[in-house]
Amino acid sequence: MKGKASGMAVLELNETGVEKALDQAFEKELNPWEAQAARFEFAAKKLNLDTGIWKILSQPAREIIVHFPVMMDDGRIEVFTGFRVQHSVARGPAKGGIRYAPDVNLDEVRALASWMTWKCAVVNIPFGGAKGGVICDPKKMSQGELERMTRRYTAELIDVFGPEKDVPAPDVNTNEQTMAWIMDTYSMHMRQTVTSVVTGKPINIGGSRGRTAATGRGVSIACDQALNYLGMQAAETRVIIQGFGNVGSNAALLLRGKGYKVIGIAEWDGGVYNADGIDIPALVEHRKKTGSIRGFAGAAEANSEELLTSACEILIPAAHENVITSRNAGAVKARILVEGANGPTTPAADEILAANNVFVVPDILANAGGVTASYFEWVQDRMGYFWTEQEVNDRLDHLMVQSFIDVIRYAEEHGVNNRIAAYMLAIDRVAYTTKQRGIYA
Ligand code: GLU
Repeated sequence: MKGKASGMAVLELNETGVEKALDQAFEKELNPWEAQAARFEFAAKKLNLDTGIWKILSQPAREIIVHFPVMMDDGRIEVFTGFRVQHSVARGPAKGGIRYAPDVNLDEVRALASWMTWKCAVVNIPFGGAKGGVICDPKKMSQGELERMTRRYTAELIDVFGPEKDVPAPDVNTNEQTMAWIMDTYSMHMRQTVTSVVTGKPINIGGSRGRTAATGRGVSIACDQALNYLGMQAAETRVIIQGFGNVGSNAALLLRGKGYKVIGIAEWDGGVYNADGIDIPALVEHRKKTGSIRGFAGAAEANSEELLTSACEILIPAAHENVITSRNAGAVKARILVEGANGPTTPAADEILAANNVFVVPDILANAGGVTASYFEWVQDRMGYFWTEQEVNDRLDHLMVQSFIDVIRYAEEHGVNNRIAAYMLAIDRVAYTTKQRGIYA
């Protein structure tokens, strides 16, 4: 009896040991920098990348951490931590968004910065890659607090930012108002208005028509291209979207407009589902009124986790990293995965999706519409001449279609999946420019 009891204790101990090891492995799987590095290594090996260039591109060029004070509404001083990481400036000024979230960390910003390098190279625009972030909970902050935090973060990085150096843009929890504050703060320090220091600004202060919807628009073009490639029809295509922020909601609106059946939307506080297709404009209205997609009369309530693995043809994760992992990838029923978010799929999930023949349009291609329109905004600011929405959209459509074709061709030529093809194409372009400029070593 005694022996059996202690034997069980050992077994329990082993089980917790195994669980711990599994949790640790899962934690590693969820580290975005590890995820980026795994794909980079694989693609670099396939490319037979020169070792010196490999070493250069496998690290961000610059990482800046700032701790800075902000006066809160009640008169208290709070100290916030912010990051700006420039992964590469080989192909042009560093480019990339700034996110505000409680769990932002250096590894995440590093990964996001490098994804910007690859993304800009995939769509062949003359930018390097960067990303910024501030650890904060914007949902709990007033507009005044957000403004003071944004201005002080900008002031801390005043020598880093610049139209020819590093050009921020919106990302998770930042928007055109945030960009207006950054532009104004930077301009105050420069003693002149410098609109081209950020993109994603309001239209009347140097923003571009079409920029706000551009990421969602690019996602919808990626869907069209995937259907075209696979010989499928929009009217028979059911779409589920995770995230109803700027990217998810604009993609949903455009896809519905093109005749796709958007049957499910998953948000952080719950989801909605309607097998006959959701009236997206009505859902947008409902969310505007109530602050949530929940309680929408035109659809049934649904569990957000379950929506990811519900039957559909296209699944679009459009919120944040690590949504499709080794724990749910096997249950994904979609034929096509279009990544509106950055890093929504882990490398372990990639393998499972590939084994199940899921056609993946990777983030660095699928969500590149945003930075492409940012490039157009930067160009227009520097010219001081602004295009019509139609002109912006036409140029965006053209670049997205061309990039999709380039990636698919690369995948076919090299016998790799779309993600690795996109990385290979991007790494090849950045490596070429790096060699051409010469290495100042
Ligand atoms: N934050 C967006 C992204 O991840 C846009 C970046 C930009 O426009 O610079 O692509």
